[in-house]
Amino acid sequence: MMRKKVYGEYQVPKCPFCNSVATIKNNQGIPVCPHHKKEQLENLKCSCGATLDLMQGKYGPFFKCINCNLINYKKGLELNGYPLKSINDL
Ligand SMILES: [Zn+2]
Ligand SMILES: [Zn+2]
Repeated sequence: MMRKKVYGEYQVPKCPFCNSVATIKNNQGIPVCPHHKKEQLENLKCSCGATLDLMQGKYGPFFKCINCNLINYKKGLELNGYPLKSINDL
């Protein structure tokens, strides 16, 4: 059995909207920077085309797809182009 250390990803959470250090959470419970506490992650899509549901787990947020089941938070963001490269993408 392979053991992969994944917890490191959650130690320094990044704001998905600007990729700076996230120090607070928005009302969805995702880590964001103070500038983006009112932003929300919406209409995120899985690689299969289904909608991703944002879930909260013991170790932080993750996504759930009706077809693919659980999707890593970071991967789900990457599939949707987060962190955003430009603030104009908002
Ligand atoms: Zn931000
Ligand atoms: Zn899927």
